[in-house]
Amino acid sequence: MGIDFDQISHIQNLQLQGIIVPGLDPFYDAKGRTLFRLFRLIISTPDTPFDPVPIKLPAVPAGMSPYSFISDELFYNGEKLDLGIQLRRAPIPPEESKLHYRGYTFPFGGTNNPYRELRLNPRITGCCPGRCFFCHRVHSHRVKPEEKYLFTPAELINHIQSDEGRDIFEDVQRVLIITELFGREDYFLDTICETSQELAQVGYPEEKEFGCIAQDVRSNQGHRILNNLVRPSRYSFSLEFFENRNKLMGPYKGILMDEVLTILESARQAGFEEIQLNYLAGIDSLEASFQGFNRLVDLNLVDSVGFSTYTFFSEEQRSYRHETAWDPKYYLELVTFLSDLGVRVYHPEAFDMGSPYTILMEKTLL
Ligand code: SF4
Repeated sequence: MGIDFDQISHIQNLQLQGIIVPGLDPFYDAKGRTLFRLFRLIISTPDTPFDPVPIKLPAVPAGMSPYSFISDELFYNGEKLDLGIQLRRAPIPPEESKLHYRGYTFPFGGTNNPYRELRLNPRITGCCPGRCFFCHRVHSHRVKPEEKYLFTPAELINHIQSDEGRDIFEDVQRVLIITELFGREDYFLDTICETSQELAQVGYPEEKEFGCIAQDVRSNQGHRILNNLVRPSRYSFSLEFFENRNKLMGPYKGILMDEVLTILESARQAGFEEIQLNYLAGIDSLEASFQGFNRLVDLNLVDSVGFSTYTFFSEEQRSYRHETAWDPKYYLELVTFLSDLGVRVYHPEAFDMGSPYTILMEKTLL
């Protein structure tokens, strides 16, 4: 597959700079901080097997980005930009709509493969113990912590069937639980177990993927239980970055690397065939990132990386990107480095703040 660096560079740069969209103005949280609205762009490339998830971009004020989207056309410094690919705006429900709080999403909605993934989000409390500075959930500890939406697995599956039709689970290709942290391993594992049972009851086939992001599961016993519940055998851990972990995340999530290594060793001992680390590119220096991944590979503690680009959704978050990570080449170097190390990129089409799909397709072992 050919790779068009001009196209890649612009798509990566869009994520770095944000986009100006008439009518999508900034808004403010209770502390008066400036927040940027979400804009989702569907990028269809003819040479990829699946449409990727629409990318999430911050809609920034005029003057903050060279990119704008007007009447379904992309502009760069005021000139129409033709990247030779199809770009479409993905519909976004109004901010206060119940859809944001319904506990599930089809992230590929609006693309040619809308049921490629179902994400369950049973915990929306605004009190996530992760306390990540980069959190941009509208309903987060930073933005809107006052309301709570909690769903049992049975309630969620019922909602999905009544909203989407009773046979929806025949079409869904994989189910993932991606939600706030629970702060307790046992509560989290109970939810995974109940969800697995509920899915079996509605006929979601055993051969289809069922997984979760499992930062809450840290003990060896927990790892063994989880390994019997998910399929394939994958432990997905939100590493995020290597440097400044305890400054940029709360104490529950921002544990130091020595503790992270102990957790990953336990996961390996429990028999997980794949250790997948979710990584937020753009916070670390490249040097720190290379060192960190080299160490993990030496210790056999990483098989794949869920690769996201650090994207700001507030004025404050904008300042946290590493000074060298404003250049799209930073991401190309990082993905090339991972590829040379033999680390796969996990489902490169599925990250709504990932790097351009084509760069990941080209540079990783799929
Ligand atoms: S763990 Fe996720 S939901 Fe929780 S604060 Fe961090 S980014 Fe937000």
